[in-house]
Amino acid sequence: MKKAFLPILTITILTFLFFPACGKNENITVKEKKIKVVTTIFPLYDFARQIGRERIEVNLLLPPGVEAHAFEPRPADIKRIQDADIFLFTNKFMEPWVAGLLKGIDTRSLTVIDTSQGIILLQRSDNHGDEEHAHTHESATADPHIWLDLSNAMKMVDTIASQLIAKDPQGKEFYLKNADEYKKRLEELDKKYKNTLAHCKNRVIVHAGHFAFGYLAKRYGITYMSAYKGFSPDAEPTPKRLVEITKIVRRYGVKYIYYEELVTPKMANVIAKETGCGLLMLHGAHNVTREEMESGVTFVSLMEKNLENLKAGLQCL
Ligand SMILES: [Zn+2]
Repeated sequence: MKKAFLPILTITILTFLFFPACGKNENITVKEKKIKVVTTIFPLYDFARQIGRERIEVNLLLPPGVEAHAFEPRPADIKRIQDADIFLFTNKFMEPWVAGLLKGIDTRSLTVIDTSQGIILLQRSDNHGDEEHAHTHESATADPHIWLDLSNAMKMVDTIASQLIAKDPQGKEFYLKNADEYKKRLEELDKKYKNTLAHCKNRVIVHAGHFAFGYLAKRYGITYMSAYKGFSPDAEPTPKRLVEITKIVRRYGVKYIYYEELVTPKMANVIAKETGCGLLMLHGAHNVTREEMESGVTFVSLMEKNLENLKAGLQCL
């Protein structure tokens, strides 16, 4: 009988011992509850994880390899946004579906952030695509690719950091330190771009994709032409535009045609074949493939590769 009592007693003692421990664990769990962040495009996902690290749980809404401009959220995506603490999107030109979505969901505990706040959006001013003028958000056709200007990327990092601090004030020092470190890396990259692109034999980027690199070209004083007139890859270039591009390639002695990520470089192949140019990729960083994600690409690594390809293609010193 004595022997049988012992395990029961042990269990009882353990149970009593365990109760306060359970309570303590719950407190820890509440205290360490990660801030849930959902983002649309890859740069926002990467900025958030660089700043928030282990204090946040960040989710990229775009499935791997999906073309970002054509993306529309499915019911499961809407639920992920609804369940998040912070939802980050680029701007109303990149994700025109956000306004409609917000009308249909409960946003009382959700902070929705347009990361283009404080950034001047550009608009194409002619049909050659090589002259830019600054316009406000009110323009109906503004260029959504703000992240491809590294000074804008730094502003977006600040916006994200301040939102994380607002949701999680205890992490203030942590977020500010990470944001500062990350902005330093962006600043160094920006300097590298400036130095490299200041001494190039050729100063014309011919891009056989949609008009994505207007911000980058403007920042470094380079002429940029895209085969697709629009800001998204949904319209095929016209035969007239292809003739124009071919003429530009010959006139400016362009040696390389750039193609975009996630789509077959059909148009780039046509132009390259017609003109005898080589092919190089310019990654717009909108989204990444599963392989790229698994290999650990970052916004900075994609932009470093872009600079290598620009250096080679524009024959920079
Ligand atoms: Zn784009």
